[in-house]
Amino acid sequence: MKSKDIEGVRSPHEDSCASNEQLALKAFLGFIKRQERETRAVRVAKALAEDCLQRLADGKKLAMYNSIQVTEMATDGVVPEKPTAWLAKVWDDLEKRLNQWELGLQDTARQAGSAIYARPRKSQGAGGAGNSSSFGLVFLPVPETETDQPASAPGSITYFRDLTLKPAFWIKPLVHAGFALKGWRRAAFVTYGLGGMAAVGVVLAGLWVVVTTGWSSIPVAGIASLIMLGAMVGGIGYALLRPFWRLIDWRIIMAPDILVAIRERCVQLEAGKEPTEGGNHVRVIRLVRYSGDCPICGEKVHLQDGGREFPERLVGRCDEHPAEHVFSFDRHSRMGRPLR
Ligand SMILES: [Zn+2]
Repeated sequence: MKSKDIEGVRSPHEDSCASNEQLALKAFLGFIKRQERETRAVRVAKALAEDCLQRLADGKKLAMYNSIQVTEMATDGVVPEKPTAWLAKVWDDLEKRLNQWELGLQDTARQAGSAIYARPRKSQGAGGAGNSSSFGLVFLPVPETETDQPASAPGSITYFRDLTLKPAFWIKPLVHAGFALKGWRRAAFVTYGLGGMAAVGVVLAGLWVVVTTGWSSIPVAGIASLIMLGAMVGGIGYALLRPFWRLIDWRIIMAPDILVAIRERCVQLEAGKEPTEGGNHVRVIRLVRYSGDCPICGEKVHLQDGGREFPERLVGRCDEHPAEHVFSFDRHSRMGRPLR
């Protein structure tokens, strides 16, 4: 903790709250500043956090803002014609982003040593004139994890989940914001893996029987196309089922492109373990992106398949110097050592 009550010094409760909140706000801003594109949603989040931080620094209490105030802060005074409508639209975007950022916000706060994390919130007004919504930041407890955060050694890298991604639209209902393996979803997952294998097996065996028993009666061209069909079924089955088995084996793999919206890159498919209320664990499959800052040059580091040099491993490669700035990746400790 950055702020500790020092013995003998009078430290009112509110002051200690304020310093905890400052720590959380700084972590929040750190996360926000790492976003690749400064969209309007990002600007709104940043403006809110910066103003809250300023208020705390000035010894004031945190407040909620109305839509005009927020719009002014986020647009540097160049207020659009209808600020309320403008903000309503931007806030919808922000809410979507917040769902993707949630784990990253928690990771960042945790790594900063904060027990709480900041999250923008809109309080719905009753509607009608004079009853408009208000906007501000709330502080939520950072959930506990099983991951201990070791002190980072010099030259090593710390990763965090910068995005928890929307899957491509065709499997969105299945993997929406983490896919807990229980109930029908567990059944669906197992059915996919085992059922898929069985289906491919049955088709191939059927083709085999047809080819071997009808060897003399089927024309050569027919046999050739049956073999082609067999190869296609085998190939497609391999492509669709390999990620399933690799995920079971390795717990984290690079996400197959088919699962990820086209504009996202360096995304992983992770089978994480999450505690449930009863003290048990549930497997959660989610699309995440781990990233970090290169300790050598400061650019972003993203995970990639280790390839031939680092087989069966994911390694972090610096965006700017991918050949030389290479780091290991430990999903448990979220740390990496230089591999070069
Ligand atoms: Zn680098």
